[in-house]
Amino acid sequence: MSEQRNVIIIGGGPSGFTAGIYSARANLEPLLFVGKDLGGQLSFTTDIENFPGLEEGVTGPLLMDVMKRQAERFGCEVRVETVTEVELREPPFKLKTDAGEYEAKAVIICTGSSARMLGIPSEQKFFGHGVSTCATCDGFFYRGKVVGIVGGGDSAMEEGTFLTKFASKVYIIHRRKGFRASQIMLDRATSNEKIEFVLDSTVSEMLGEDKVTGVRLHNTQTGQESTLDLDGLFITIGHVPNSEVFKGQLEMDEEGYIITDRKQHTSVQGVFCAGDVQDHVFRQAVTAAGTGCAAAIEAERYLAKLGD
Ligand code: NAP
Repeated sequence: MSEQRNVIIIGGGPSGFTAGIYSARANLEPLLFVGKDLGGQLSFTTDIENFPGLEEGVTGPLLMDVMKRQAERFGCEVRVETVTEVELREPPFKLKTDAGEYEAKAVIICTGSSARMLGIPSEQKFFGHGVSTCATCDGFFYRGKVVGIVGGGDSAMEEGTFLTKFASKVYIIHRRKGFRASQIMLDRATSNEKIEFVLDSTVSEMLGEDKVTGVRLHNTQTGQESTLDLDGLFITIGHVPNSEVFKGQLEMDEEGYIITDRKQHTSVQGVFCAGDVQDHVFRQAVTAAGTGCAAAIEAERYLAKLGD
């Protein structure tokens, strides 16, 4: 027998918990699934200083814990279960997790995205200790320091340029000579005196004891290895939306981001979506929370119409 619910929210980051707060306050008794990483990407972020209202800043895990408790206070039930299968063709929507089976009248997808990583063992060891995937979050800590940034897309150019506000020197390390970045972003980076390009190069190893002090580089043309001293390394080689489980059931763009309209509706009536799994542009905690709020309000309206 599957458990019947009004609203199931999938994902425990800022969009999911905000959807939880709003739908709980609308008396919908939502059930929210957090997978293994409570807080999504924010659980890997050290300090958040740009969330409005939190003047002194807050750590990512603490903000997520507070949002979770706030949602629970209004009656949102949070379970640590991972959704493994969904059937979204028509309501009631069916979901399977690693622990049970469910049916919901409305679903809000808030599964976020994951930063693409290089796949070398040392990046996990140094994550949060000199390795970051978010210049907006962590750039401030590199005032007067030398940093590297990996990637050749718009993110690398934008974040590299942003980092020059703090760092004394920024190396953009890219695996080939051609760039995916738009010309305007590339021009902005190349004309910045603090930025130096290291091309045809990949990072083969991160060096240091407790934190990053440099990287080993591999030249993709000559095969030569060299080292570069750095205080920090930003990896900006794209993001991967966590949408695999919904493939074939919801409209997505070619990268797998779920397509929503301006009211957070997906291509299936009664299925809403918020946060980074539908946003490859802003990817901020505050924008994720905003879309989570909108999705919950729309879910409430949808259920009210169903009731009528
Ligand atoms: P992206 O365009 O997919 O670029 C990823 C970059 O990382 C590419 O240069 C790629 O190299 C490199 N890369 C991928 N895997 C790698 C690996 N394993 N090792 C080393 N390098 C690797 O990603 P993005 O820059 O995050 O941009 C994503 C989307 O957001 C784009 O549509 C972009 O236009 C948009 N965006 C827009 C703005 C803006 O307009 N303000 C800002 C940021 C992003 P190759 O080129 O060799 O594949």
